[in-house]
Amino acid sequence: MTLTGNIFKIQRFSLHDGPGIRTTVFLKGCPLRCGWCCNPESQRSGADLFFYRRLCIGCGACVAACPEGAINETTFEIDRGRCIGCGACAESCLMGAKELAGRHMTVDEVMAVARRDAVFYKNSGGGVTLCGGEPMVQKDFAIALLDALRAEGIRSAMESSACAGRRDLLEIAGHCDLILFDLKTLSEAKGKELGIDVGGVLETLSSLLDAGVQVVLRYAVIPGFNDSAEDRAAFLKTAKRLNIRNVNLLPFHRLGDGKYIALGRKYAYADVVTMQKSELFGLREQFEREGVSTVIEA
Ligand code: SF4
Ligand code: SF4
Repeated sequence: MTLTGNIFKIQRFSLHDGPGIRTTVFLKGCPLRCGWCCNPESQRSGADLFFYRRLCIGCGACVAACPEGAINETTFEIDRGRCIGCGACAESCLMGAKELAGRHMTVDEVMAVARRDAVFYKNSGGGVTLCGGEPMVQKDFAIALLDALRAEGIRSAMESSACAGRRDLLEIAGHCDLILFDLKTLSEAKGKELGIDVGGVLETLSSLLDAGVQVVLRYAVIPGFNDSAEDRAAFLKTAKRLNIRNVNLLPFHRLGDGKYIALGRKYAYADVVTMQKSELFGLREQFEREGVSTVIEA
């Protein structure tokens, strides 16, 4: 059987998630359910169906296409209990008001997209990044894709929160050039809220560094979760203790807001104000003073 990955987006010409110009491949599936997640369609392994009401012109094509009778013929809303994620409604909708997130692709299919920008990777020091969700959930596919990239001289990075296990992450790190390590919290109690064993995550981080893996530590600063003075000090202390040379700070934003509505889900951070980059200037200075090269990502 041909190996496929369940992918919900491939973004070309990205300037985030690693150095230079990148193609970012977003894989579905994540063991965590962070309330601030800006890609809620990444969390489940199964297909997710968006309904963008503002695009709907009420033509009814999706109602006729649905084999499960899961679409209301007046409101065109989805009965998510009946929906099997077949995607027939999305295919029939000419307005793009219904959209299925999640498509099985082979390594060759992803490589065909990645190859298009090879010249840009070379000139900018960029490459391909695997994001999620948590790419480790699709470990075999991730390794096969990373190997295919390496075989063609395309540099690669992978984002991970390390919650899928130390051995697996160490294994996959041997197949890519950079790990973007998402450290969610250093508080055992906060970790428990997310289902993370903070001690285990730190052991994994140490093991990667001991093995000589190139790591960028990512700290997504989330109001009310990990942004207190104690939290900030704990991140800095950990970076220093582990001799981490590169940190990315990611201010909280609400770009995923509309996705929750389109998925019929409640956004736990709907009332939380987007953080300005400038709010992290002081923290960046603190890291820099300690010799840690620090970038604030948009
Ligand atoms: S096919 Fe698209 S535009 Fe037509 S009713 Fe369905 S969602 Fe609305
Ligand atoms: S994905 Fe399939 S089952 Fe679900 S609403 Fe659309 S057509 Fe119906």
